[in-house]
Amino acid sequence: MATVQEKGTISIHTENIFPIIKKFLYSDHEIFLRELVSNAVDATQKLKKLTSMGEFNGELGDLRIEVTFDKDKKTITVSDKGIGMTADEVKKYINQIAFSGATEFIEKFKDKADGKDIIGKFGLGFYSSFMVADKVEIVSRSFKAAEHEAARWECDGSTEFELSITNKQERGTDVILHINKDSEEFLDEWRLKGILEKYCKFLPVEIKFGTTEESVEDGVDSEGKTKYKSVTKDRIINNPSPLWTKSPNDLKDEDYLKFYKELYPFSEEPLFWIHLNVDYPFNLTGILYFPKVKNDFEIQKNKIQLYSRQVFITDEVKDVVPDFLMLLHGVLDSPDIPLNVSRSYLQSDTNVKKISQHITKKVGDKLQDLFKKDRKDFEKKWDDINIFVKYGIISDEKFYDRAKDFTLLKNVDDQYFTFEEYKEKVKANQTDKDKNLVYIYASDKGKQHSFIEGAKNKSYDVLVFDGILDSHFINTLEQKLEKIQIKRVDSDIAEKLIDKDEKIESVLSQEEQDQVKSVFEKAINNKNMNVTVDSMSPNDLPVVITMNEFMRRMKDMAKTGGGQYAFMGSMPDNYNVAVNGNHPIVQKIIKAENEEAKTKLAKQTFDLALLSQNLLTGADLTNFIKRSVELIS
Ligand code: ADP
Repeated sequence: MATVQEKGTISIHTENIFPIIKKFLYSDHEIFLRELVSNAVDATQKLKKLTSMGEFNGELGDLRIEVTFDKDKKTITVSDKGIGMTADEVKKYINQIAFSGATEFIEKFKDKADGKDIIGKFGLGFYSSFMVADKVEIVSRSFKAAEHEAARWECDGSTEFELSITNKQERGTDVILHINKDSEEFLDEWRLKGILEKYCKFLPVEIKFGTTEESVEDGVDSEGKTKYKSVTKDRIINNPSPLWTKSPNDLKDEDYLKFYKELYPFSEEPLFWIHLNVDYPFNLTGILYFPKVKNDFEIQKNKIQLYSRQVFITDEVKDVVPDFLMLLHGVLDSPDIPLNVSRSYLQSDTNVKKISQHITKKVGDKLQDLFKKDRKDFEKKWDDINIFVKYGIISDEKFYDRAKDFTLLKNVDDQYFTFEEYKEKVKANQTDKDKNLVYIYASDKGKQHSFIEGAKNKSYDVLVFDGILDSHFINTLEQKLEKIQIKRVDSDIAEKLIDKDEKIESVLSQEEQDQVKSVFEKAINNKNMNVTVDSMSPNDLPVVITMNEFMRRMKDMAKTGGGQYAFMGSMPDNYNVAVNGNHPIVQKIIKAENEEAKTKLAKQTFDLALLSQNLLTGADLTNFIKRSVELIS
């Protein structure tokens, strides 16, 4: 039994500090383990450092950190073989430093509503053990202490502590938590393993937690078949030298792919990656992977993980990573990202800003590089990466400047062009009477097939913009590229897509045109359908239904959450119905014997146009089929 040497009172300003801390930390109790294991790692690294400086000449021995728990005694213990602490050091570091850190925390954040938000990032250190423990013991033998002589400290979560001298053979520190009633969930192998794997997976010193059974070969049986036996091995939680800490020159593609699997076991292979390695003016290492994302902006569960000196901090990297790169995967490690501050502070922190800009630049460089090195391969990847590039272009002025030379436009024939190349390609045939270049695109190759054909008949090129971000991307392009208009292929009849002041003569007199218009208006009987009679080629369809580019785009933006256009979402769809005055059917309608026959023909032609665009549904569709059957029988 150790004799009690000293009883004392921890000098802190706030007497009731524990309840406040407990309240703040409520949502994040599990971080106590991260803090204790990090301290154990620090103590081990310090010892290694002293050895390398020649200040410690003893045996280092096995430096593994071990986490154990005892369900019956209700304890969790973190043991290290690091530098340890003398009784004086315990007084200094635990009673004063650890507690002053906690006091400072309270002083800073007691009035802030966002306490919960910051807590996970606040290195509360040793003190956080009191979130889950009624009583905490430290038994520590310093590397400089006399043989067996160790310090024992105990505190029950009040401001009072006991400090005594005890017997401990091995160098290092055991921190023993006597788990409180509310925290017994932590006395569970899988829970603890989960927490260790989350926060400690890449800590630089091996961490042992329990054992695992492994099956190993054990000779051959009488039939010559390999025998296996089960052996018990220490379970090591972490990979102490993760890939990002190594030099890119020493690594091969397989290493990066293997590490990706280690991070995200269930994901498809990434497209490519960027190894970050900066020491000045800030310190940043990491690997960012470009994953294969589906074009529908699926919510990603794999996120970038943020580490500080290999300790997992969070996977909420907003503010550190520019928005448009949030869909990347991988790890970032920087001791220069302040972890103990609130979000608003993080946004204005100059290091964080620089880091974010650096990442943007590196991503731009990498893409440029891929584009230059192997254009064909870049084109192959484009369908997967265009979402990042477009998001970057929409949201980041600087990124646009870098990306404008390698951003590709894809047409319906799967050909790819840079902005410059495309301009050259269509200049001759797609300039309108006001000298504007008109780019034409399809958002759905299947549904807009007849329009695409119409445009192609006029030798227009048709681009494909079918991604969720494309309506925003098109807007940005129109702002950035001078004298360029972008129109969806079904926003007008082919004749009018590009206004070149050329007119096909109409075979109808003005009077006949007015008559046709009113026949169709009557047959359609819908005020949201605006009928015009146009001169097209007799080979074009008799009726073409279009939606004005501006209208439709506003509606698309409302759908993808364009705040200021939200009201457009509730407006009725307005269409233009262009009747081809030069089509033979129109003559037939004019010559039909009576009103009823005219209406019937007009209705049938209109329904065909609806049908071709997937707009004919419900009773209208049923009636159309009935009418068609009558017509052919
Ligand atoms: P921080 O780690 O941020 O300094 P802590 O409250 O976690 O704050 O710890 C306070 C101090 O106690 C540490 O700086 C260290 O000197 C000492 N300490 C804590 N845990 C250990 C340990 N396992 N071995 C040696 N010293 C430790």
